[in-house]
Amino acid sequence: MYKVTLIPGDGIGPEISEAMQNVFAAAGAPVTWEICYAGQAGITQYSDPLPEQTLASIRHNKVALKGPLTTQVGEGYRSINVSLRKTFDLYCNLRPVKSLPGIKTRYPEGVDLVVFRENTEDLYSGAEHRMGSHAAVGLKIITEDASRRIAQAAFEYASAHGRKKVTAVHKANIMKLTDGLFLNCTREVAKKFPDIHYDEVIIDNLCMQLVVQPQKYDVLLAPNLYGDIISDLCAGLVGGLGVVPGANIGTECAIFEAVHGTAPDIAGKNIANPAAMLLSGGMMLDYLGEKVVASRIRAALEKVLADGEVQTPDLGGKATTSDMAAAIIANL
Ligand code: NAD
Repeated sequence: MYKVTLIPGDGIGPEISEAMQNVFAAAGAPVTWEICYAGQAGITQYSDPLPEQTLASIRHNKVALKGPLTTQVGEGYRSINVSLRKTFDLYCNLRPVKSLPGIKTRYPEGVDLVVFRENTEDLYSGAEHRMGSHAAVGLKIITEDASRRIAQAAFEYASAHGRKKVTAVHKANIMKLTDGLFLNCTREVAKKFPDIHYDEVIIDNLCMQLVVQPQKYDVLLAPNLYGDIISDLCAGLVGGLGVVPGANIGTECAIFEAVHGTAPDIAGKNIANPAAMLLSGGMMLDYLGEKVVASRIRAALEKVLADGEVQTPDLGGKATTSDMAAAIIANL
């Protein structure tokens, strides 16, 4: 049995976490959960958006699965997601974006790509300052070490998973020093992997190319902010945020979470799609070496989606979160 920290999260987090737990239990996944709180739920329970109990649990268990956490826009506490990534040095944000059966999209030929996003620096460093009362400045920080290790992770993944191409994403025509440094590092790492094709694309062009011809891409390797933005764009290619999972991986710990946020517009209604959370749990099982049970859960989810009878509203259906969990369990 693996003891895993589970942070149900805010908004739709508790609903999709419950669905995931029910599926895991029915599939016999060898996991026991240590439930911890953060974000708004942390404030409610411990008056702290990132309670020490939660940090201690992750430090001890080394693996966590988390629901989304609220971060207010322009005010309030700093992002707990960013704090967790920094605290545990989870430098590699890995987001596989793959077409699923039964989900209608504009791309009948299918999309299958992976986003590698640097997860610790760039404009996410939080180095922002007011300059008097009429201006503000934010620092874009790019270092060789962080750029090299995310590039290394992307190429190693490509190599291990039979991927053919890694594309570095940048805006080095304008940000010549910061994105330029990122590219110098990715080029250097690329030389160590002669069997994998390496190319580069400017972020704005990439956005257009992804919408028109997503099949052109295989592994996308990006600094933090571009990686965040293109992940949501890529989610839109395969049916939306309800179906794209993710992992934040460091050398000591890993935290798995869906790409989506707390979805306040649908929270508490039992209509959120639990697929992204479940697939994130599947990535966690793979990471723990429990590939058989992970594949069984994925196969049951794909069967339900392919049948098309039980789908949540984001996929055009009328099913609830619990209906979907029950249907997945019935197909295990
Ligand atoms: P969001 O991802 O919460 O929602 C965007 C849209 O996608 C909404 O229409 C929502 O209903 C839909 N959606 C998202 N997940 C869904 C699911 N599982 N099933 C069905 N529909 C789904 O993005 P937002 O509205 O920009 O952010 C809301 C809050 O979430 C903010 O506080 C933000 O900071 C936070 N957030 C947290 C994380 C995280 O914890 N990793 C990630 C992104 C955003």
